[in-house]
Amino acid sequence: MSESTIKETTYKPTSPNSKLDFASLWEYAPAPESPAKLKIKNQYQLFIDGKFQKPSKGRYFKSVNPATEEEITEFAEATQKDVDKAVKAARQAFEGEWSSLSPKSRGKYIYRIARMLQERAREFAIAESMDGGKPIRESRDVDIPLVAAHFFYYAGWADKLDFAFPGKKPEPLGVCGQIIPWNFPLLMLAWKIAPALACGNTVVLKPAETTSLTAMMFAELVQDAGLPAGVVNIVTGAGQTGSEIVNHKDIDKIAFTGSTGVGKIIQKSLAGTDKKYTLELGGKGALILFEDAAIDQAVEGIINAIYFNQGHVCCAGSRLLVQENIADKVILKLKDRLETLIVGDPLDKNTDIGAINSKQQFETVNSYLELGVEEGADVYQSKCSIPDSGYFIRPTLFTNVSQSNRIVQEEIFGPALTVQTFRTADEAIEKANNTPFGLAGGVWTDKGSKIFRVGKGLRSGVIWANTYNKFDPTSPFGGYKESGVGREGGLHGLAAYVNLK
Ligand code: NAD
Ligand code: MN
Repeated sequence: MSESTIKETTYKPTSPNSKLDFASLWEYAPAPESPAKLKIKNQYQLFIDGKFQKPSKGRYFKSVNPATEEEITEFAEATQKDVDKAVKAARQAFEGEWSSLSPKSRGKYIYRIARMLQERAREFAIAESMDGGKPIRESRDVDIPLVAAHFFYYAGWADKLDFAFPGKKPEPLGVCGQIIPWNFPLLMLAWKIAPALACGNTVVLKPAETTSLTAMMFAELVQDAGLPAGVVNIVTGAGQTGSEIVNHKDIDKIAFTGSTGVGKIIQKSLAGTDKKYTLELGGKGALILFEDAAIDQAVEGIINAIYFNQGHVCCAGSRLLVQENIADKVILKLKDRLETLIVGDPLDKNTDIGAINSKQQFETVNSYLELGVEEGADVYQSKCSIPDSGYFIRPTLFTNVSQSNRIVQEEIFGPALTVQTFRTADEAIEKANNTPFGLAGGVWTDKGSKIFRVGKGLRSGVIWANTYNKFDPTSPFGGYKESGVGREGGLHGLAAYVNLK
């Protein structure tokens, strides 16, 4: 089948008499979400011991809206002294009020936070899209609902920990230092804070420097919820602030989500200390598509797997492995579908792909696009229009690639998919496993037995079958190899925040 045949079938009028002219491709009218109700402060302080406090050195850094390149606010830069103050507040809360509360009352606070997140969901969604560039459709329908779901889920465990670990006595670890990335800012905060509090710990959390807005709004919510002072502390800053947390002597556990490079630095710093740690790092997920799968559904799944959140997803399915005899057809269908994706204003409800999170990431992704060409790949990008300012990249497909290419081995963390073919299930498994990562993968087939056979062979923390990027607070998440150590979510996520006696 030639490319033009497929295009023609897709846009043909529904009946010969139809007045609808699909061939000219309708434009969507803009449907922007209004940011008018969202009150963003000009400047945010550190949230330590239940109060907003100025940073010791008085330094601030700007946060940019990546869709407009405009500065939207500034955050305080926490120094070693500020981190120390936050850890002391967390220690005091841990030894005092928080520990003396009954588990049931602790649970009530977490439920209250969950309900207040739902009440303020719209503000949080808009802020998340403005500060980070993700489409409002995703922040509104995926991120924020999942944030609330995590707090609800872990609130329920607070007074049932004995049942989670039968025959053992679970005890909180103490003060937890938590460092999170910019791709799912509030969701990563929820993954960290909800289980920590449910198990009776106190926390010092640092959001990523390009996306600290919703974390500071969360600090305001925590204050409004009346949580005892010092239980949740939020300090803003860049890598230096993060390493002050990692290296603080009075922290009992480090929970880190971010790049494999920084994960390795952290692991080195923690070696030989008695701090516990979990590391959720990078990925290069494989999507294995067999000839017997429902192809159109699979194409939708692949689109969701790689272009969701601009491809800024650790578990993104960034490598398609398609059975050789259906490869041409699948590639044409993918290209066809790419043309319908709308790239642009994150606040527009029609937008499928928003802005790349920061200038730095924009440059990184672009350098991978150039590298792909240098490595000899064929590059296909959709022809849609993109805004003149802001950091936007059209959805991209690399074909004619090989396993040893850097674009196949390294995490691009952008809207770019590589396509390879395979003949047998064993070849697919081998190619899927042949990267340094092991976070996530997907299998599309009509045969349940094949799902189990391939699933067993994949060395990935998460495997989806005939779908992708489905998340739920009850199910554990985490990686093998360079994708990290430990699990978050579900019962496994509780285990990471208790000592069992
Ligand atoms: P990053 O590692 O650069 O930064 C992550 C966080 O660590 C930020 O808050 C940053 O300020 C902080 N940091 C930087 N240097 C530090 C240091 N030396 N010590 C302590 N903290 C430091 O990663 P990123 O670019 O923000 O995020 C993208 C990466 O995160 C991708 O590789 C992605 O795969 C990964 N990620 C993984 C998961 C997962 O669950 N496995 C989830 C989301 C993102
Ligand atoms: Mn920003």
